[in-house]
Amino acid sequence: MIRTPTRYHRPQTPEEVGALLAEHGEAAAVLGGGSWLLPLMNRGERSYEHLVDLAGLGLEAVTAQDGEFELAAGATYEDVLADADLIASVPLLAQMSAGVTGGRQLRNRATLVGSACFQNPSSEAPAMFRALAAVFRVHGPAGEREVEAADFFRGAYETALEPGEFVLGARFAGSRRGGYEKLKIAAGGWPVGTAIACRDDAGNGVLVLGAIEAVPLRLELEQLQRGDGTIDLAGLEHLVDASVTAPWDDVLGDAEYRRAIAAPLARRAIEQMEAA
Ligand SMILES: Cc1cc2nc3c(=O)[nH]c(=O)nc-3n(C[C@H](O)[C@H](O)[C@H](O)COP(=O)(O)OP(=O)(O)OC[C@H]3O[C@@H](n4cnc5c(N)ncnc54)[C@H](O)[C@@H]3O)c2cc1C
Repeated sequence: MIRTPTRYHRPQTPEEVGALLAEHGEAAAVLGGGSWLLPLMNRGERSYEHLVDLAGLGLEAVTAQDGEFELAAGATYEDVLADADLIASVPLLAQMSAGVTGGRQLRNRATLVGSACFQNPSSEAPAMFRALAAVFRVHGPAGEREVEAADFFRGAYETALEPGEFVLGARFAGSRRGGYEKLKIAAGGWPVGTAIACRDDAGNGVLVLGAIEAVPLRLELEQLQRGDGTIDLAGLEHLVDASVTAPWDDVLGDAEYRRAIAAPLARRAIEQMEAA
């Protein structure tokens, strides 16, 4: 139960959302699917006097244009799984969305953009957006701006969003194939580490490690690519070991454990990518 008085707002335009956020400052929070925010408020770990629900903006859609897709802020894991064109073009997104814990209830409420905005280091969506080189469409007091995933994730629970700003959607190119690997301690738990390896249509490969550091760690694979297109796995291990410099440490796994699992996760994701 939320024990502090909280006023619910359901604005109809981005400008109205912006005006509410400007008026109430830190006393207000944007409400996406509420799957994380409301339990936090129920437990008394966060309290806000104003909740600004984005549901009135009609931002549920997944849209496609000129080879690109946009997940609107309200698009849930289930919306992703229901979009045949999206999951045919970027099967990794379906793999990730189908595998989140919490079952259908969670998939029907929780949004990928909400997960990106919360930026829990253990969440899966931030690393996926980083692998897809997504661009976030951000609305704020100065109008709209775009923020690349490379700049969006700043630290644990910290993004590039400034006061009064919120995300309208995330855009990325389609045609990405690859491998997705996740390590959990228990089936119903959060990932201790994830690895995404993918190539675009031009064959350029990237590897992104999630939950290994506070923000997703992206490594380019060109230097490891052999003439026949396969990846030098011994070189990969060295690259990953050298790149993980500030491993994340929490109750799911300490820094040493996360450093140890990074290279095996990376290798498995690459093997999946090569078999895809
Ligand atoms: C039971 C359970 C199991 C879960 N399992 C997994 C799992 O296996 N893997 C995984 O990665 N995650 C998991 N999650 C986390 C889940 O993915 C997130 O709770 C969800 O994606 C957050 O989205 P939301 O729309 O519900 O955000 P909300 O709870 O509404 O908001 C979360 C935060 O983001 C902010 N926010 C939301 N939308 C916006 C926006 N458009 N612009 C600016 N700020 C915004 C809110 O103000 C709040 O601070 C689980 C959660 C639960 C409750």
